[in-house]
Amino acid sequence: MRLKVLSVASEAAGLVKTGGLADVAGALPGALAAQGVEVTTFIPGYPAVLAKLGKAKAVHKWDALLGTRARLLAGKLGAQSLLVLDAPALFAREGGPYADAAGRDWEDNWHRFAAFARAAADIAGGAVKGRAFDLVHAHDWQAGMVPAYLKLAPLASSRPVPGVITIHNMAFQGYYPAEVFPQLGLPASAWTVDGVESYGGVGFLKAGMQLADAITTVSPTYAGEIRSVEFGMGLEGLILARSNRVHGILNGIDNAEWNPATDPHLAANYTAGKLAARAANKRALEHEFGLDRDDGPLFIVVSRLTWQKGMDVLAEVLDHLVGIGGRLAMLGSGDGEIEAAFVAAAARHPGRIGVRLGYDEGLSHRLQGGGDAILIPSRFEPCGLTQLYGLAYGCVPVVSRTGGLADTVIDANPAALAVGVATGIQMNAVSHGALAMAVSRAVDLYNRRGAWKRLQTNGMKADFSWAASGAAYGALYRQLIGDQG
Ligand code: ADP
Repeated sequence: MRLKVLSVASEAAGLVKTGGLADVAGALPGALAAQGVEVTTFIPGYPAVLAKLGKAKAVHKWDALLGTRARLLAGKLGAQSLLVLDAPALFAREGGPYADAAGRDWEDNWHRFAAFARAAADIAGGAVKGRAFDLVHAHDWQAGMVPAYLKLAPLASSRPVPGVITIHNMAFQGYYPAEVFPQLGLPASAWTVDGVESYGGVGFLKAGMQLADAITTVSPTYAGEIRSVEFGMGLEGLILARSNRVHGILNGIDNAEWNPATDPHLAANYTAGKLAARAANKRALEHEFGLDRDDGPLFIVVSRLTWQKGMDVLAEVLDHLVGIGGRLAMLGSGDGEIEAAFVAAAARHPGRIGVRLGYDEGLSHRLQGGGDAILIPSRFEPCGLTQLYGLAYGCVPVVSRTGGLADTVIDANPAALAVGVATGIQMNAVSHGALAMAVSRAVDLYNRRGAWKRLQTNGMKADFSWAASGAAYGALYRQLIGDQG
């Protein structure tokens, strides 16, 4: 049986993006098509989205969607079916999707995303003629209220539609004061810990986790970690209580965009069988970053420079990295103090450390294509993409053992080396000592050329395409709908 799924996301690659959510929402429809699942993506009508949509058909309208006028536009982006919520009072403004140009969160975010969720529940409930859905898949806090409206305030005419919520990062929860509750259009009975109430306020992500039929997150290890106080960020009790409904499904990568054999950003293309060709990319990087030319290991970083990513600790390990013969080429931006620490390290070690502050898509490809090892010492990492790009490019990941990093990198311990399955290096909880040791292990392994080459080729042969994840989401949908076919 073909399934029709409404995917509710506030970002989608090609339309609007601030992080990994956009990549997932953008790639899942293609992966699911192969599973007999037809996905329609529902997204807010930010100016950038409306501009890309061009001329679109209005298929529904609301005179008062939580008090505001709105239209539903239907269109396409490539092969992707889109429904867009055109509600100028909520979304027609300059700035980012969640904050103004100065980075201050919009004060009415609760209203914007409650209305978005209310509209999604109406659509899923059959409000739009000719469009019926078998299941709703909500992403992150911005769509967190969808399961709440479906379960606690369904349209009178609607039939029950199962809901899934995916948590892309537990750190962002959409938490608002109790005063907004009466304006959400929910019955008074929803104000309970079994409904939308959370620590005395309204929790959008919490509501979704409470009322969805299944909760997914983006790696099996993160699905386990969020049961603890350290990673659960206040919602660990809820995850524990609903643990039989929690699933960890890894994100995939876009193999068309990230393929060293065809990548147009690289000086030289290569495959696992022609690794020697990578040398030209390394030489190009040395030149681009003003680094000494030598045959020692070249470490890279492509990252937001934040506490989550462990970049404060890495900045303190750089003298050690250089002391044992390493060099570093770094691309990133973020926390001002961390940026300054990297800039200072580059000044201390000319020719050994090169730093580019900013965001540069092409350079991120060149770094993966020419670096020997990518450093990812994250304190938490729901899935992570850069280690997957590193694996695909023969740029050996050196990672902390957390979240998706734990699930995708096989540590080069003696047992894994003996059977030839290692793909990278893992360290325990991020600390100066653990990271210094991981860097030392990387340099030792790099100097054992045969072993290093094996790490590279193992990683390049691993399959992290969307196929497996698409199949896992498809199976979950069918299980929830009760259709095993
Ligand atoms: P997160 O979403 O937490 O930042 P991920 O590893 O899941 O971390 O995804 C980060 C994405 O952003 C990757 O595609 C990575 O290549 C890209 N990226 C991060 N920083 C930069 C940068 N400064 N320039 C270019 N791309 C970057």
